[in-house]
Amino acid sequence: MNYQQHNLADTIVAIATPPGIGAIGVIRLSGKDAISIVDAVFYGKTLTEQASHTIHFGTIRNEENEILDEVLVSLFVAPKSYTGEHVVEVSCHGSNYIHKEVMQLFIRKGARLAQPGEFTLRAFLNGRMDLSQAEAVADLIAAESAGAHDLALKQMRGGFSSEIQNLRQELIDFASLLELELDFSQEDVEFADRIELVTLVKKIRVIIMGLIRSFQLGNVIKHGVNTVIAGRPNAGKSTLLNALLNEERAIVSDIAGTTRDTIEEVLNIDGIAFRLIDTAGLREAGDQIEAIGIQKTLEKIEQSAILVYVYDVMTMELEAVKADIEKLYKPEIKTLILGNKMDELYSLHDNPLHYKEQAYMAKGGDKILQDLKANLGIEYHFISAKRADDIAKVKSALSSLVGYEAQDQTVVSTARHYEALSKADGSLSAVLAGLESEIPSDLVAMDIRHALRYLGEILGEVTSEDLLSNIFGRFCIGK
Ligand code: GDP
Repeated sequence: MNYQQHNLADTIVAIATPPGIGAIGVIRLSGKDAISIVDAVFYGKTLTEQASHTIHFGTIRNEENEILDEVLVSLFVAPKSYTGEHVVEVSCHGSNYIHKEVMQLFIRKGARLAQPGEFTLRAFLNGRMDLSQAEAVADLIAAESAGAHDLALKQMRGGFSSEIQNLRQELIDFASLLELELDFSQEDVEFADRIELVTLVKKIRVIIMGLIRSFQLGNVIKHGVNTVIAGRPNAGKSTLLNALLNEERAIVSDIAGTTRDTIEEVLNIDGIAFRLIDTAGLREAGDQIEAIGIQKTLEKIEQSAILVYVYDVMTMELEAVKADIEKLYKPEIKTLILGNKMDELYSLHDNPLHYKEQAYMAKGGDKILQDLKANLGIEYHFISAKRADDIAKVKSALSSLVGYEAQDQTVVSTARHYEALSKADGSLSAVLAGLESEIPSDLVAMDIRHALRYLGEILGEVTSEDLLSNIFGRFCIGK
């Protein structure tokens, strides 16, 4: 779609609810003729005479005066609507036949089928939201975990935008200081100001770098975190996996029509989706750790952010654990070691688990595991995959590996924002270098303008057609 030539004069229409049969289906129109188009086929009150934000019951009839459906019509008069234009939402019964007939009727009356994301694009073009807020709408719709939902909601409500606005304001203040300095430099007084400028740029960079760093977390929150469970045969990997997934399954199997295969592999802990990647294949690879080497496991680990290594405390010496870990370890992948089957240890059936743990550690294991923790940052826990308490312990260990708690900190979750921030940071580092090497202030000012432009791209103050079609083209039709 050609976003520069999109015609704001058109009235657009789309089915806003998902395809298929539901209790109701909502058809949405936006544009200057939205109300009059619906009014022409609606039998009830005269819609053009009704107040904004009101709902009306009536029938929709075609040109032959045949009733297509009984509907509720919601009116939003411009500019107080999602798009900033007149918006009408017609709630029909959820039949595909009705939707098709009513849509075609509206199109015959002058509406045009909306492109993907065109409602939100209009909201952006009409100044109802900035670009980062518009992007958050898509994220909100796609959110599958509490964390992703939180993040998108904050961004949609403008939290991220105001952070970027603040940064821009700081930069604008900086630019004016620089101009001041330019004025002074003609009179040969500049030194104090340079120091102040350097301090200010450094401060802004700290904030930008914090945002850049948050992208990793943002990604995890938005897309989930790939997690591999590895270990030798009979370590208890499947038992653990099943226990971890148990609750989720119970919930999921109540929802008719969900595909078990894909959902079973996602584990939600404290708002983060842990994607247990290809665990069936992994189990196979895990079984062959000794026999055919660790290539397959390593490939799985490479696609992951977290490795959970499970071993059987009954049968495996810690030296062997250490040897496996050294083969599998990658610095960028967070690793968690779980010593499993603590309930069986020493056959001390009557002793509470924590005594066994102490006894086990006292055997000398503690040195090897503590070294792994100290040298490689690897966490370890002792569990029995058969105990519910321990499953909760594993969950909280996984959750703290990600280090996410719902918090007020601004988190970047969009690659486009990440790139713009990185570029802005590049420009600011040039500004800093310029200030320190005392290059002429007007050159420094150019780098500041670049930084301002990059930040402006995030909010959509600087856009291109490619950018818009890239962003809105990914939306569903009707949003
Ligand atoms: P995998 O090959 O690593 O997937 O191991 P499994 O999950 O199939 O477990 C191997 C065996 O160990 C099974 O008989 C499990 O019931 C048993 N097992 C797993 N975890 C525990 C545990 O915590 N305690 C005890 N006593 N047995 C366990």
